[in-house]
Amino acid sequence: MKFSLAAVLLSAVATPAFAVGQLPGGVTPLNYDIMVRPDAKAMTFSGEETIAIEVAKASKTIVLNAADLKISRATLDGKPVAFRLDAAKQQLVLTPGTSVSAGKHTLAFAWTGTINTSAAGLFAIDYTNKDGSAARMLVTQFEAPDARRFAPLWDEPAYKARFTISTVAPGDQTAFSNMPPTSVTKQADGTRLYRFAETPKMSSYLMFLGMGDVERKTVMAGETEIGIITRRGVVDQGDYSLAQAKRLLTYYNDYFGQPYPLPKLDMIAGPGSSQFFGAMENWGAIFYFEPELLYDAKRATQSGKQRIFTVVAHEMAHQWFGDLVTMNWWDDLWLNEGFASWMENKSSIDLNPEWHADATAVAQDREGALQVDSTVGTHPIIRHVETVDQIGQAFDGITYMKGQAVIGMLESTLGADIFRSGIRSYMAKYKYGNTVTDQLWTELSTAAKMPVAPIANDFTLQPGVPLVTMTDMRCVAGNTQVSLTQGRFAYDASAKQAQTWRVPMTLAVVGQADAHVTVRGAGVQSVTTPGCGTVVLNRGKGSYTRTVYTAPAHAAIVRDFGRLALTDQLGTLGDDFALAKGGNQQLDRYFSVVGALGAGSSPLLWQTVAGQLSDLGGRVPKGPARDAVSAKIIRTLQPAMARVGFMASPDEGALTATLRETLISVLGDLGDPAVLARSRTLFAALQKNSDAIPAPIRAPILGAFAQNATAADWEALLALTVAEKNPVTKNSYVRLLGVVKEDALARRALDLLTSDRFTAPQKASLLRSVANEHPDMAFDYAVAHLALVNTLVETSTRAGFVAGLGAGSDDPAMPGKIKAFAAANLPVEARGAADRTVSTMAARRMVDARISGDVAAWGRSGG
Ligand SMILES: [Zn+2]
Repeated sequence: MKFSLAAVLLSAVATPAFAVGQLPGGVTPLNYDIMVRPDAKAMTFSGEETIAIEVAKASKTIVLNAADLKISRATLDGKPVAFRLDAAKQQLVLTPGTSVSAGKHTLAFAWTGTINTSAAGLFAIDYTNKDGSAARMLVTQFEAPDARRFAPLWDEPAYKARFTISTVAPGDQTAFSNMPPTSVTKQADGTRLYRFAETPKMSSYLMFLGMGDVERKTVMAGETEIGIITRRGVVDQGDYSLAQAKRLLTYYNDYFGQPYPLPKLDMIAGPGSSQFFGAMENWGAIFYFEPELLYDAKRATQSGKQRIFTVVAHEMAHQWFGDLVTMNWWDDLWLNEGFASWMENKSSIDLNPEWHADATAVAQDREGALQVDSTVGTHPIIRHVETVDQIGQAFDGITYMKGQAVIGMLESTLGADIFRSGIRSYMAKYKYGNTVTDQLWTELSTAAKMPVAPIANDFTLQPGVPLVTMTDMRCVAGNTQVSLTQGRFAYDASAKQAQTWRVPMTLAVVGQADAHVTVRGAGVQSVTTPGCGTVVLNRGKGSYTRTVYTAPAHAAIVRDFGRLALTDQLGTLGDDFALAKGGNQQLDRYFSVVGALGAGSSPLLWQTVAGQLSDLGGRVPKGPARDAVSAKIIRTLQPAMARVGFMASPDEGALTATLRETLISVLGDLGDPAVLARSRTLFAALQKNSDAIPAPIRAPILGAFAQNATAADWEALLALTVAEKNPVTKNSYVRLLGVVKEDALARRALDLLTSDRFTAPQKASLLRSVANEHPDMAFDYAVAHLALVNTLVETSTRAGFVAGLGAGSDDPAMPGKIKAFAAANLPVEARGAADRTVSTMAARRMVDARISGDVAAWGRSGG
């Protein structure tokens, strides 16, 4: 699954409301034959299934999963069987009266269920056609524990079985699933009966069914048919994804050493949104929310285009890593998600070298992981999940981003070829099966002829970020001797404890050969590296650690900054910025690095600095001091803005285009007059022509306009939103209505939540967007309207969603309010997200206290 970016940023980790037990075992489902008949109008469905099972030893009960289903018939080997539903455990318990003998049996059920309005189980996506008529697409979302809302089944990843799915669709619609249909039969009432081919052995969370008024376009990649399925009228916007998927399929067939095993791979675009995820790797039928898959050349930015590649690469990697070989239990979810996230950049480095994914991996992904891992609220990558629903908590930044960073560190330590051969033997050995993490370490160790587990375990079983400190550096007989110690890096004092890792690291004198070391233990370690001069620690920034230099060594880095590799330049900016926030060194060191940037520096450096300065601006209390810092940031970034200009030039690189987006966003947020004037002019043009804003700057220009909107501006935006028929554009306008700075307008935005103008997912995204600028207002609103808010987001997202709204608050009372909310409304086991939000806020407060004086002083300084 591709986790929603908004969820990562707000650290509003999904935590479900109920603890649910694991199945007792002893019974294995072999194959399912499932027929589901949706009634899209009534938002209900009916289902029937037969399940072939194997009973290991005679048993008095059979237990499987079901949630929110009304079971009308249950039979065992053709005879009615007594049953009860345990709603709290989400289990269906069959009690046949006599013992069920060991061996093969057949179960059959009939039931009815509900079609949901948000993405859990079978759900509806409502949108309007180009002519303004209403349309409804039905799709499923089952990860992690929601297949049981579709049919009674063994809904845990280790119970792999074969699925044959059938359904009935209206005559003017098309149904689609994991496998191609084997028959489509027109019925007397005009509907069409679909029966899809049997899937290979797979986990229940990877099942998929959808239907709607859609178009499908295909391309062949070797033996595999790759398809794009979209609502009618936009299938051509899938061309970009289709072309990338074709390249990726060839790339992955080779990388994993196993050909993609299904006859087809569809990528389905749903014109909706979720607060939880962006895309889901259902085997052979990957589901995406539309902006993650369809490239609208008239409206999408360069970063939007790159995001599409990233998400497609992520979900396609899962077709092997996750679908073909699956974690045994949710404890090891990180391996699925860390690997797929790492593969986004790995494949991009090879297929789109102009994007410099190796550098963005350092500046964005690695920084993201280090950031979430630097407070006391963090946790080890591998956590024991006792109950199925605790899995919701596992979909967080640590699982995805730190998982990715650790996989990347192992690849750079072992070497790319050795690492790949370990992955190939893991795939060959465990295809169609389930694994635990140690089984991957074993294959990598065999390939590398060295034990991988000791290093890997240090990073997966303990929380936190290593801090490698250079205590001395001297030139001895033509070589450099470096003294290193280690500890733990953190923003908050309580997390700064003595802790050690085995940290594999490369270091080098600029222009000289590398030295490879493993920093271990707490004592001083002496390392010799060839040559004398400027020493770069963690060269390439492949290792998951922060590094601190001695003052002379740091001065040398600044002096030689232009000679460093881009990854090291970005990593130095990231480390120095974080080290100042952590109180490990003065902010001056960071500014000395910024001062080493010039007009010719990579756009990625300026993009990184823009993000960091924007962060610093928020560290100073509102008022004259904040205004002075904002003005200084604008002065610092204006030369870069002048260089890239507002309009894209035809021959510019992708990095220039993404830098322009960031600069417009940051300068717009700070109220830069030039950006505001431009946004107003372009918005006025947009009211006459919906494509008036050039695509490369459309999103950031609209963001700047909306943030700084006056009452009249906001009314105009609302009118545009209500009139908009394109569902993706409409979703983006709804979000913009919430980002306003003006209090009164934010309140107007909240009033829209009780109107019937928008869908439930649109309202959820509007509420979250209000929280960007008005966290207190959004949180208070959600608490006061909890019943309403609970209808807007998926069950699995509810517990973390409300706490996350308050996360950006500066009010000292907010952490207490979040705790009180959790205590009053959530069971103990569902309070993890609220606790983490509170600890992240405490860390932020600590950082503010530490550096806001220095930031304010920088704002007052000249230049
Ligand atoms: Zn994923």
